Amino acid sequence: MPELPEVETVRRGLQPAMEGARIMEADLRRKDLRFPFQKDFVARLEGQTVTGLGRRAKYLMADLASGDVLLMHLGMSGSFRVRNDDEKTPGKFHFSRNEDRAHDHVVFQMSSGSAIVFNDPRRFGYMKVIARNALDREPLLKGLGPEPLGNEFDAAMLARSCANKKSSLKAALLDQRVVAGLGNIYVCEALFRAHLSPRRLAATLATKAAQRKGVAGGAPTEHARRLVEAIHAVLNQAIRAGGSSLRDHRQTSGELGYFQHSFQVYDREGEKCLTPGCGGIVRRFNQNGRSTFWCPKCQK
Ligand SMILES: [Zn+2]
Repeated sequence: MPELPEVETVRRGLQPAMEGARIMEADLRRKDLRFPFQKDFVARLEGQTVTGLGRRAKYLMADLASGDVLLMHLGMSGSFRVRNDDEKTPGKFHFSRNEDRAHDHVVFQMSSGSAIVFNDPRRFGYMKVIARNALDREPLLKGLGPEPLGNEFDAAMLARSCANKKSSLKAALLDQRVVAGLGNIYVCEALFRAHLSPRRLAATLATKAAQRKGVAGGAPTEHARRLVEAIHAVLNQAIRAGGSSLRDHRQTSGELGYFQHSFQVYDREGEKCLTPGCGGIVRRFNQNGRSTFWCPKCQK
Protein backbone atom coordinates (compact mmCIF):
# COMPACT_ATOMS: atom_id res chain seq x y z
CA MET A 1 0.00 0.00 0.00
CA PRO A 2 1.42 3.42 -0.88
CA GLU A 3 2.51 5.42 2.12
CA LEU A 4 3.14 9.14 2.40
CA PRO A 5 6.34 9.33 0.28
CA GLU A 6 4.70 7.46 -2.58
CA VAL A 7 1.60 9.70 -2.52
CA GLU A 8 3.78 12.81 -2.33
CA THR A 9 5.77 11.55 -5.33
CA VAL A 10 2.52 11.13 -7.27
CA ARG A 11 1.41 14.63 -6.26
CA ARG A 12 4.65 16.15 -7.56
CA GLY A 13 4.24 14.25 -10.80
CA LEU A 14 0.65 15.37 -11.35
CA GLN A 15 1.14 18.98 -10.31
CA PRO A 16 2.58 20.35 -13.58
CA ALA A 17 -0.19 18.71 -15.64
CA MET A 18 -3.06 19.70 -13.36
CA GLU A 19 -2.37 23.04 -11.71
CA GLY A 20 -3.76 25.95 -13.67
CA ALA A 21 -5.38 23.64 -16.22
CA ARG A 22 -9.09 23.06 -16.77
CA ILE A 23 -10.71 19.64 -16.65
CA MET A 24 -12.27 19.49 -20.14
CA GLU A 25 -13.64 16.02 -19.74
CA ALA A 26 -13.90 13.52 -16.89
CA ASP A 27 -14.27 10.08 -18.43
CA LEU A 28 -15.44 7.40 -15.98
CA ARG A 29 -15.12 3.93 -17.41
CA ARG A 30 -17.06 2.28 -14.63
CA LYS A 31 -19.65 3.27 -12.04
CA ASP A 32 -17.46 2.66 -9.03
CA LEU A 33 -13.98 2.23 -7.66
CA ARG A 34 -13.95 1.17 -4.03
CA PHE A 35 -17.17 3.17 -3.65
CA PRO A 36 -19.68 4.23 -6.32
CA PHE A 37 -18.91 7.61 -7.89
CA GLN A 38 -21.25 10.37 -6.73
CA LYS A 39 -24.12 11.05 -9.13
CA ASP A 40 -22.92 14.59 -9.78
CA PHE A 41 -19.19 13.67 -9.84
CA VAL A 42 -18.62 14.43 -13.53
CA ALA A 43 -20.80 17.57 -13.54
CA ARG A 44 -18.85 19.06 -10.65
CA LEU A 45 -15.50 18.44 -12.36
CA GLU A 46 -16.00 19.26 -16.02
CA GLY A 47 -15.15 22.84 -16.93
CA GLN A 48 -13.40 23.47 -13.62
CA THR A 49 -9.91 24.86 -13.34
CA VAL A 50 -7.59 23.15 -10.87
CA THR A 51 -6.17 25.98 -8.78
CA GLY A 52 -3.86 23.82 -6.67
CA LEU A 53 -2.93 20.22 -5.97
CA GLY A 54 -2.21 19.43 -2.33
CA ARG A 55 -1.91 16.40 -0.12
CA ARG A 56 -3.31 15.53 3.30
CA ALA A 57 -1.99 12.26 4.74
CA LYS A 58 -2.46 9.80 1.87
CA TYR A 59 -5.13 11.87 0.10
CA LEU A 60 -4.45 13.96 -2.98
CA MET A 61 -6.61 17.08 -2.95
CA ALA A 62 -7.24 19.07 -6.10
CA ASP A 63 -8.70 22.52 -5.42
CA LEU A 64 -11.23 23.56 -8.02
CA ALA A 65 -12.19 27.11 -8.96
CA SER A 66 -15.82 26.33 -8.01
CA GLY A 67 -14.89 25.92 -4.35
CA ASP A 68 -15.06 22.14 -4.53
CA VAL A 69 -12.16 19.85 -3.73
CA LEU A 70 -11.50 16.60 -5.58
CA LEU A 71 -10.25 14.02 -3.06
CA MET A 72 -8.30 11.08 -4.51
CA HIS A 73 -6.95 8.01 -2.72
CA LEU A 74 -4.70 5.40 -4.34
CA GLY A 75 -5.93 2.52 -2.19
CA MET A 76 -3.71 -0.56 -2.52
CA SER A 77 -2.78 -0.56 -6.18
CA GLY A 78 -3.89 2.75 -7.68
CA SER A 79 -1.55 4.78 -9.87
CA PHE A 80 -1.77 7.83 -12.07
CA ARG A 81 0.04 8.46 -15.28
CA VAL A 82 0.23 11.61 -17.32
CA ARG A 83 -0.16 11.17 -21.03
CA ASN A 84 0.92 14.13 -23.08
CA ASP A 85 -0.37 15.27 -26.44
CA ASP A 86 2.73 14.28 -28.37
CA GLU A 87 2.35 10.70 -27.17
CA LYS A 88 -1.02 10.27 -28.83
CA THR A 89 0.62 9.16 -32.04
CA PRO A 90 0.49 5.38 -32.20
CA GLY A 91 3.84 3.81 -31.55
CA LYS A 92 4.97 6.64 -29.33
CA PHE A 93 3.50 5.25 -26.13
CA HIS A 94 5.97 4.07 -23.58
CA PHE A 95 4.25 1.43 -21.54
CA SER A 96 5.98 -0.29 -18.73
CA ARG A 97 5.95 -4.05 -18.72
CA ASN A 98 3.18 -4.68 -16.24
CA GLU A 99 0.92 -1.88 -17.33
CA ASP A 100 -2.57 -3.09 -18.01
CA ARG A 101 -4.90 -0.67 -19.73
CA ALA A 102 -7.94 -2.76 -18.82
CA HIS A 103 -7.60 -1.18 -15.39
CA ASP A 104 -7.61 2.43 -16.61
CA HIS A 105 -10.79 3.52 -14.83
CA VAL A 106 -10.76 7.32 -14.95
CA VAL A 107 -9.31 9.73 -17.51
CA PHE A 108 -9.20 13.49 -17.00
CA GLN A 109 -8.65 15.35 -20.24
CA MET A 110 -6.96 18.61 -19.27
CA SER A 111 -6.96 21.90 -21.18
CA SER A 112 -3.15 21.72 -21.16
CA GLY A 113 -3.40 18.84 -23.60
CA SER A 114 -2.39 16.27 -21.01
CA ALA A 115 -4.58 13.33 -20.11
CA ILE A 116 -4.43 12.10 -16.54
CA VAL A 117 -5.17 8.40 -16.30
CA PHE A 118 -6.06 6.59 -13.08
CA ASN A 119 -5.30 2.87 -13.18
CA ASP A 120 -6.21 0.53 -10.33
CA PRO A 121 -6.28 -3.26 -10.76
CA ARG A 122 -7.56 -4.02 -7.26
CA ARG A 123 -9.93 -1.05 -7.05
CA PHE A 124 -9.39 -0.06 -3.43
CA GLY A 125 -8.76 3.50 -4.57
CA TYR A 126 -11.50 6.11 -4.58
CA MET A 127 -12.43 9.66 -5.56
CA LYS A 128 -14.95 12.06 -4.12
CA VAL A 129 -15.86 15.71 -4.70
CA ILE A 130 -16.43 17.70 -1.51
CA ALA A 131 -17.24 21.37 -0.97
CA ARG A 132 -14.23 23.10 0.56
CA ASN A 133 -16.29 24.46 3.43
CA ALA A 134 -17.48 20.94 4.27
CA LEU A 135 -13.99 19.46 4.58
CA ASP A 136 -14.07 19.74 8.39
CA ARG A 137 -17.09 17.51 8.51
CA GLU A 138 -15.83 14.98 5.96
CA PRO A 139 -15.77 11.52 7.59
CA LEU A 140 -12.83 10.38 5.42
CA LEU A 141 -10.62 13.13 6.85
CA LYS A 142 -11.93 13.20 10.39
CA GLY A 143 -9.49 12.31 13.15
CA LEU A 144 -6.38 12.51 10.98
CA GLY A 145 -3.37 13.47 13.06
CA PRO A 146 -0.66 15.98 12.11
CA GLU A 147 1.39 15.76 8.93
CA PRO A 148 4.75 14.22 9.85
CA LEU A 149 6.57 16.78 7.68
CA GLY A 150 4.43 19.71 8.80
CA ASN A 151 5.52 22.38 11.27
CA GLU A 152 3.19 21.31 14.07
CA PHE A 153 4.62 17.79 14.32
CA ASP A 154 7.54 17.85 16.75
CA ALA A 155 8.87 15.93 19.76
CA ALA A 156 6.59 17.78 22.19
CA MET A 157 3.48 16.96 20.19
CA LEU A 158 4.46 13.31 19.70
CA ALA A 159 5.18 12.94 23.43
CA ARG A 160 1.81 14.49 24.31
CA SER A 161 -0.09 12.07 22.07
CA CYS A 162 1.83 9.06 23.42
CA ALA A 163 2.02 9.97 27.12
CA ASN A 164 -1.05 8.00 28.18
CA LYS A 165 -0.90 5.25 25.59
CA LYS A 166 -0.70 1.61 26.68
CA SER A 167 0.34 0.41 23.23
CA SER A 168 3.76 -0.27 21.72
CA LEU A 169 5.69 2.44 19.94
CA LYS A 170 5.13 0.66 16.62
CA ALA A 171 1.35 0.59 17.11
CA ALA A 172 1.31 4.25 18.17
CA LEU A 173 3.14 5.37 15.03
CA LEU A 174 0.76 3.41 12.83
CA ASP A 175 -2.20 5.13 14.52
CA GLN A 176 -3.27 7.79 12.01
CA ARG A 177 -4.57 10.00 14.85
CA VAL A 178 -1.05 10.26 16.30
CA VAL A 179 0.63 11.04 12.99
CA ALA A 180 -0.94 10.79 9.54
CA GLY A 181 0.37 8.89 6.53
CA LEU A 182 2.94 6.53 8.05
CA GLY A 183 2.63 2.83 7.29
CA ASN A 184 4.54 -0.33 8.11
CA ILE A 185 7.63 0.29 5.98
CA TYR A 186 8.49 3.79 7.14
CA VAL A 187 7.64 3.07 10.78
CA CYS A 188 10.09 0.11 10.78
CA GLU A 189 12.74 2.25 9.10
CA ALA A 190 12.27 5.24 11.41
CA LEU A 191 12.43 3.10 14.57
CA PHE A 192 15.63 1.49 13.33
CA ARG A 193 17.24 4.83 12.54
CA ALA A 194 16.25 6.13 15.99
CA HIS A 195 17.60 2.90 17.60
CA LEU A 196 14.28 2.38 19.39
CA SER A 197 12.61 -0.99 19.87
CA PRO A 198 9.24 -1.43 18.15
CA ARG A 199 8.10 -3.19 21.36
CA ARG A 200 8.96 -0.25 23.61
CA LEU A 201 5.94 1.35 25.31
CA ALA A 202 4.79 4.45 23.46
CA ALA A 203 4.40 6.23 26.79
CA THR A 204 8.20 6.22 27.25
CA LEU A 205 8.38 9.10 24.77
CA ALA A 206 7.10 11.31 27.60
CA THR A 207 8.86 12.02 30.88
CA LYS A 208 7.97 9.74 33.77
CA ALA A 209 7.20 12.51 36.23
CA ALA A 210 4.27 13.53 34.11
CA GLN A 211 3.08 9.93 33.89
CA ARG A 212 3.16 9.47 37.69
CA LYS A 213 1.23 12.62 38.41
CA GLY A 214 -1.32 11.66 35.81
CA VAL A 215 -0.69 14.93 34.03
CA ALA A 216 -2.12 14.67 30.51
CA GLY A 217 0.93 14.73 28.31
CA GLY A 218 4.49 14.61 29.63
CA ALA A 219 7.49 16.47 28.33
CA PRO A 220 9.31 14.86 25.41
CA THR A 221 12.21 12.58 26.26
CA GLU A 222 15.41 12.34 24.25
CA HIS A 223 13.80 9.32 22.56
CA ALA A 224 10.95 11.43 21.24
CA ARG A 225 13.40 13.93 19.74
CA ARG A 226 15.45 11.18 18.12
CA LEU A 227 12.35 9.54 16.72
CA VAL A 228 10.96 12.73 15.15
CA GLU A 229 14.35 13.39 13.55
CA ALA A 230 14.40 9.83 12.19
CA ILE A 231 10.84 10.15 10.80
CA HIS A 232 11.76 13.39 9.03
CA ALA A 233 14.97 11.93 7.64
CA VAL A 234 13.46 8.73 6.33
CA LEU A 235 10.44 10.44 4.71
CA ASN A 236 12.52 13.14 3.05
CA GLN A 237 15.00 10.60 1.75
CA ALA A 238 12.17 8.42 0.41
CA ILE A 239 10.48 11.36 -1.34
CA ARG A 240 13.77 12.29 -2.99
CA ALA A 241 14.03 8.69 -4.23
CA GLY A 242 10.53 8.80 -5.74
CA GLY A 243 9.09 6.50 -3.08
CA SER A 244 9.51 2.76 -2.77
CA SER A 245 8.44 0.41 -5.53
CA LEU A 246 7.26 -2.72 -3.78
CA ARG A 247 4.24 -4.23 -5.42
CA ASP A 248 2.40 -1.47 -7.25
CA HIS A 249 3.77 2.01 -6.72
CA ARG A 250 5.09 3.86 -9.71
CA GLN A 251 5.57 7.52 -10.46
CA THR A 252 3.26 9.38 -12.85
CA SER A 253 5.95 9.05 -15.52
CA GLY A 254 5.68 5.27 -15.17
CA GLU A 255 9.11 5.14 -13.55
CA LEU A 256 9.64 3.19 -10.40
CA GLY A 257 10.73 4.80 -7.16
CA TYR A 258 13.96 3.40 -5.81
CA PHE A 259 13.88 3.93 -2.05
CA GLN A 260 13.50 0.15 -1.53
CA HIS A 261 17.24 -0.02 -2.24
CA SER A 262 17.80 2.14 0.84
CA PHE A 263 15.80 0.01 3.28
CA GLN A 264 17.92 -0.66 6.33
CA VAL A 265 15.67 -3.19 8.08
CA TYR A 266 12.47 -3.63 6.08
CA ASP A 267 12.51 -6.87 4.09
CA ARG A 268 16.05 -7.68 5.33
CA GLU A 269 15.28 -10.57 7.70
CA GLY A 270 18.40 -12.62 8.48
CA GLU A 271 20.78 -10.01 7.06
CA LYS A 272 23.46 -8.12 8.96
CA CYS A 273 22.46 -4.97 10.86
CA LEU A 274 23.76 -1.86 9.12
CA THR A 275 24.51 0.06 12.33
CA PRO A 276 28.31 0.45 12.40
CA GLY A 277 29.84 -1.86 15.02
CA CYS A 278 26.52 -3.52 15.97
CA GLY A 279 27.06 -6.99 14.51
CA GLY A 280 23.39 -7.90 15.08
CA ILE A 281 21.07 -9.66 12.65
CA VAL A 282 17.81 -8.16 11.36
CA ARG A 283 14.81 -10.09 12.67
CA ARG A 284 11.14 -10.19 11.77
CA PHE A 285 8.16 -10.86 13.99
CA ASN A 286 4.42 -10.45 13.75
CA GLN A 287 3.18 -7.39 15.62
CA ASN A 288 -0.53 -6.51 15.52
CA GLY A 289 -0.90 -8.51 12.33
CA ARG A 290 1.98 -6.83 10.47
CA SER A 291 5.59 -7.87 9.96
CA THR A 292 7.99 -5.86 12.07
CA PHE A 293 11.62 -5.83 10.94
CA TRP A 294 14.23 -4.72 13.48
CA CYS A 295 17.63 -5.32 15.05
CA PRO A 296 17.13 -6.62 18.60
CA LYS A 297 20.73 -5.73 19.41
CA CYS A 298 20.80 -1.99 18.75
CA GLN A 299 17.11 -1.03 19.00
CA LYS A 300 16.33 -0.56 22.68
ZN1 LIG B 1 21.88 -3.46 15.13
